Amino acid sequence: MTSLVVGVAVLLVVVALVVVINVIMRRRGFSIPGKTVVRCSKGHLFTTSWIEGASLKAVRLGPTSRYQRCPVGKHWAIIHPVKDEDLTAEDRQALAEGTAG
Ligand SMILES: [Zn+2]
Repeated sequence: MTSLVVGVAVLLVVVALVVVINVIMRRRGFSIPGKTVVRCSKGHLFTTSWIEGASLKAVRLGPTSRYQRCPVGKHWAIIHPVKDEDLTAEDRQALAEGTAG
């Protein structure tokens, strides 16, 4: 029974941490959890679903890094979320045109 209690306790801590990280990311200005603009290591911009602690198609490397396929350059790359306020007019144009994914 002791191991079960420990297991439940660990699970609760993990869940609490995931919630806290999502709230922190949201407060930092990222559209997380949800659809957020990301930039790959080669500078391509595209939008993707980003929920901290619950990525299904990417390798998480931390709160602001993950290894995922870039649909723009059709390559695998480390991507980072971009704050909405940090997007330039050019960035928004590219996203709107779909050339950025
Ligand atoms: Zn790319």
